[in-house]
Amino acid sequence: MLQQSPVLSSKIKIDVDYDKTDYSERHVSFYTKYSCFTLKALRKSSFQKFLGSMLLSENIEETIVNTIDIEVYPASRKKGNYIAGRCNVFKGNIRIYPKTIKFCNVFRRKFGQEILFAYAGSRARAALIHELLHLKYVSDEEKVRELTKIYFYAYSKNHLAKSSNAVRMCEFIFDAKSFKILQERLKSNKYG
Ligand SMILES: [Zn+2]
Repeated sequence: MLQQSPVLSSKIKIDVDYDKTDYSERHVSFYTKYSCFTLKALRKSSFQKFLGSMLLSENIEETIVNTIDIEVYPASRKKGNYIAGRCNVFKGNIRIYPKTIKFCNVFRRKFGQEILFAYAGSRARAALIHELLHLKYVSDEEKVRELTKIYFYAYSKNHLAKSSNAVRMCEFIFDAKSFKILQERLKSNKYG
């Protein structure tokens, strides 16, 4: 039976890859803190509630989600981009990855610590939404991306301190141009 309670919380865990020994002490400390922060962001009760209703409206059974692992260290580069998440749809295993320390330092200098925290939490949430949707839409990347934007924006609009921050986060996380197109469509009520 589908439940609307915060069902995924207990499946979210930090997964340390002990094989990655080429990090300095400073990096280990940074990524460890980052993963704890991500864990909190993903387990936040308002977000868990939101995911519960998303799974319900997408008709995705919570039981097909096996594990949600927060990786401590970034995934290896893929086509110049560091990926935010991965999903094994057959096993129901989801992985969420951090941004690199280098990226965070540049971002912090440009926008400040507070926006960096908001961004890191938002990015992890968007990644989890994205990977959960893959469980249903499997390899339909376009559909998953479109829905990720819609769901993430819906959540952020109601749960970030200012709704203008929601737009800003979406512009950081998704490509700003494609997000603008989506906003226009939402305004014209295409998605009800
Ligand atoms: Zn994807």
